[in-house]
Amino acid sequence: MSVVRCDGIVQIYKAQDVEVVALRDVDLMIDEGETVALLGPSGAGKSTLLWLLAGLLRPSAGRLWLDGTDLGRLGQRRLDRLRAARIGVMLQNPARNLIGYLSAAQNVAFAQRAVRRDRRRARDLLARVGLGEAGDRPAGRMSGGEQQRLALAVALANKPRLLLADEPTSQLDDGTGRAVVELIKRAAALDGTTAVVVTHDTTVSEALSRTVTIRDGRVGAEGRRGEDFVVVGREGAVQVPPEYHHLLPPGSMARIEPLEDGIALRRAES
Ligand code: ADP
Repeated sequence: MSVVRCDGIVQIYKAQDVEVVALRDVDLMIDEGETVALLGPSGAGKSTLLWLLAGLLRPSAGRLWLDGTDLGRLGQRRLDRLRAARIGVMLQNPARNLIGYLSAAQNVAFAQRAVRRDRRRARDLLARVGLGEAGDRPAGRMSGGEQQRLALAVALANKPRLLLADEPTSQLDDGTGRAVVELIKRAAALDGTTAVVVTHDTTVSEALSRTVTIRDGRVGAEGRRGEDFVVVGREGAVQVPPEYHHLLPPGSMARIEPLEDGIALRRAES
């Protein structure tokens, strides 16, 4: 069974009198222990998808399942409980994931209040993100990089079923960035944690098991084991990747040629 299942997800933001369609008909299945890099240009809808998966936002249309539970059918209290116990979230602004006046250890302990407190796991996580000696310093006084590493330890505190991270290495140097990636992969391998990570950092995306590229609110492409594929959408729509726009520019007309195992698109001379 998939840990994440999105079925026809649509997200529309209403700002004053304009509507922004941030996601249109997103279908996505992610299995246990998969580590997915969510890629795509700015404004494509990546953060929106992450917020929906985190249960922080309810979709305008479509359905979303976590471990077989239809999130749309849960009332707010049950959704909050499920989030606290089973979803680890690391938002883009590292300070927003933390309680500023608490120390590193207290922040991890606070995250564990939803389940059984596990001091050994807390100590191990802090050591792995290089904050084993962080002492009593409040999180609010830590550097951006320290906050980001602590936010990951907090997000993993409960062995979540699903880890969601928005640009988790944006404030880290290469070495600590790699440690963060290793920790995500370790959680996947040891605890079966499924991870969805929004990232522009190629060292992150190359290290994870799968890439999903969002463009213009749709899943446009997927990559597995180093190979990239376009995704045929609900109505048969296919996005021509930008690197081929010089051959088949947006707005151009093409002839379809059936082949034995697919089709070829050839630009029609106008
Ligand atoms: P990404 O993370 O890929 O940069 P986002 O999910 O942040 O993309 O945004 C997708 C689209 O939705 C953009 O056009 C953005 O301007 C719009 N958007 C995001 N959040 C809001 C909001 N709270 N209100 C109105 N529009 C929003």
